[in-house]
Amino acid sequence: MVPSAPKAGLLDRGIASLPGIGPAKAELLGKELMIFSLGDLLYSYPFRYVDRTKFHRIIDILPDQGNVQVKGKLVNLIVKGEHRKKRLVGRLRDDSGAALELVWFRGVNYLDRTFKIGEEYVCYGTVQEFNGRLSIAHPEMELASAGQSESVATFEPVYASTEKLNKRGLDTRGRRKLIRGILDRLSESDLPDMLPDNLRKELHLISHYRAVRAIHLPANQAELDAARRRLKFEELFLLQLRLIQLKVNREANVAGYVFGEIGDTFNRFYRDHLPFELTGAQKRVLREIRQDLGRGIQMNRLLQGDVGSGKTMVGLMSMLMALDNGFQACLMAPTEILAYQHYESIQEYLGEMGITVAFLSGNVKGKSRKALLERLAQGEIDILIGTHALIEPPVVFKNLGLAIIDEQHRFGVKQRAKLWKKNRPYPPHVLVMTATPIPRTLAMTAYGDLDVSVIDELPPGRTPIQTVHFTEHRRERVFGRIREEIAKGRQAYIVYPLIEENEKLDLLALEAAYDEMLHKFPRPEYQISVVHGKMKPEDKDYEMARFKNGETQLMMATTVIEVGVNVPNATIMVIVHTERFGLSQLHQLRGRVGRGAAESYCILLSSVKLSKESRQRINTMVDTTDGFKIAEADLKLRGPGMIDGTQQSGVLQMRIADLAQDGRILTVARDRAKDILQRDPALQFPEHAVLGKYLDIHFRTVKGWSLIS
Ligand code: ADP
Ligand code: MG
Repeated sequence: MVPSAPKAGLLDRGIASLPGIGPAKAELLGKELMIFSLGDLLYSYPFRYVDRTKFHRIIDILPDQGNVQVKGKLVNLIVKGEHRKKRLVGRLRDDSGAALELVWFRGVNYLDRTFKIGEEYVCYGTVQEFNGRLSIAHPEMELASAGQSESVATFEPVYASTEKLNKRGLDTRGRRKLIRGILDRLSESDLPDMLPDNLRKELHLISHYRAVRAIHLPANQAELDAARRRLKFEELFLLQLRLIQLKVNREANVAGYVFGEIGDTFNRFYRDHLPFELTGAQKRVLREIRQDLGRGIQMNRLLQGDVGSGKTMVGLMSMLMALDNGFQACLMAPTEILAYQHYESIQEYLGEMGITVAFLSGNVKGKSRKALLERLAQGEIDILIGTHALIEPPVVFKNLGLAIIDEQHRFGVKQRAKLWKKNRPYPPHVLVMTATPIPRTLAMTAYGDLDVSVIDELPPGRTPIQTVHFTEHRRERVFGRIREEIAKGRQAYIVYPLIEENEKLDLLALEAAYDEMLHKFPRPEYQISVVHGKMKPEDKDYEMARFKNGETQLMMATTVIEVGVNVPNATIMVIVHTERFGLSQLHQLRGRVGRGAAESYCILLSSVKLSKESRQRINTMVDTTDGFKIAEADLKLRGPGMIDGTQQSGVLQMRIADLAQDGRILTVARDRAKDILQRDPALQFPEHAVLGKYLDIHFRTVKGWSLIS
């Protein structure tokens, strides 16, 4: 039987049609969670499940345990501090006799009234150590009695919520009720299956209808697993279908300039100006780019290469290919500092070759800006380097053939689209360069329509950064090492973790740490810079500049130090509470040292007690400086959706699939999608009718997906 397309009907109905949801609540759900229709509600899956039978004993919890669920009595609850430091502090004691501190910085008065001392609660959140005590900031709280009376299910879904929704009764329990209401009214015909029968059978996937029911109300672990597998496959399959369709379309329709010739400029540069032998990886990538540029199809290529792997040179030589074929080229970087660094080094590489290079940013104004734009439009400028000012409308090229973007993750798909419009009749070829190492399967999806090249080899002769692990009780020795480096005229970074939800707690910790540092590194002998996320940009810049100029020897920072920060004189970095950082983040941080000729050090400080996972992370950092090895280890170790780069890019919001963990499902989904599109490119076979329909609906409704085009 040929399945019919999904009925417009029940799922399209507004949520205000649900009992108990008036216009005010409906508006709030839309505002807070983008939930407007019954379908939106149904397809917002739980992000985790509470297993009512499993609890951690407080006495056994380790400082870096991560997320824990505990059950205990609230034995104390008081409001501490005033104004911006005001917080609600509770203590939860369980049968083990130990107690855990709970802290809230927001909604203090409301929560103070809501929780009752003496009641038993189930409490879930991330443990951290602060002033030697274990605590959870902003835990999820539920009365222990609530869960028991409500259902017999062991697995209770937990839904994303916000404080405003909680206050209006749309917390996770409220959501459960709504979902049950919808599921009761749904029948199989409301949710026809988009996967062709044979595919479903072959891959042993349960039906869409059953999966959607079970994801909200799983009877047991096995059913939940089956539902997850089905829905993950479905999501990745739809995504891959879309991406492959787009790519096929683009290759059929978006022609590109043919750069047929390796010409005089390129050859002259190669022969007379190249200051070093290219690495094998650089040569291979240049060949890949050369091939793309000669095909007559617009190039969209992502170039991944670790910090210092020599991406700039590859970019420059690609630009020379454009020049040799009579075109202009541009290079864009996310910050002015980075863009100017490129401008300087490219001018130096080119020497007296007679190629005109210009720099443009928002700060190039007035007459000089006007003159520059005129020369650009006349074709008198060969290479333009700058910030995103390059893609603004007044900037007109005579004939832009190649655009290079450095540091992709700061640059969304939208901006890339703007760039496409910079030239007629064909859009310029696009090369995106990033130092964020992303495993291949992930890149395939996160960057969707881009082809990927990898520089997996560093230029010879680098002194690797020496990385060592110290536990907290040896801090004095670490301070000693810092003093030794400073005595040699060097500078030091000291990095503290900052997790957004717990920002205030972290800032309190930073203040305490600053006092300690002032004591250990007294003025006037030592000068300390402090930079954190809550500072005004001017103050931050000022502090950064003082460090850069060498006026301060120590830089204490809570945030990831900016990508572009280049202080070659800084030779030592100490990372405090290393166990609280992710691997990729640690790798990016470490890249801030080892930028000069001198030997550099990275010291990873941690608690004495460490979980197995934290220990593995730290060992990985000590063992290797290879960004790709670290990214692979990260992928294996880290929790859902936490890989840097994809998270930041915000390009794709997945409902259930996890790009970091579902690589294998992704590969199968991609192969199957390819197979179907090969046989039926426009999805016109009867057995693909539902699929085509879903694809359209899916792309209109999932956040971020509409940007892929
Ligand atoms: P990134 O990939 O981080 O952008 P860069 O392009 O800035 O790296 O290169 C880092 C340094 O390595 C630069 O000083 C550059 O001149 C140098 N470099 C690049 N390629 C080579 C090579 N093949 N041999 C030696 N040094 C190189
Ligand atoms: Mg670079």
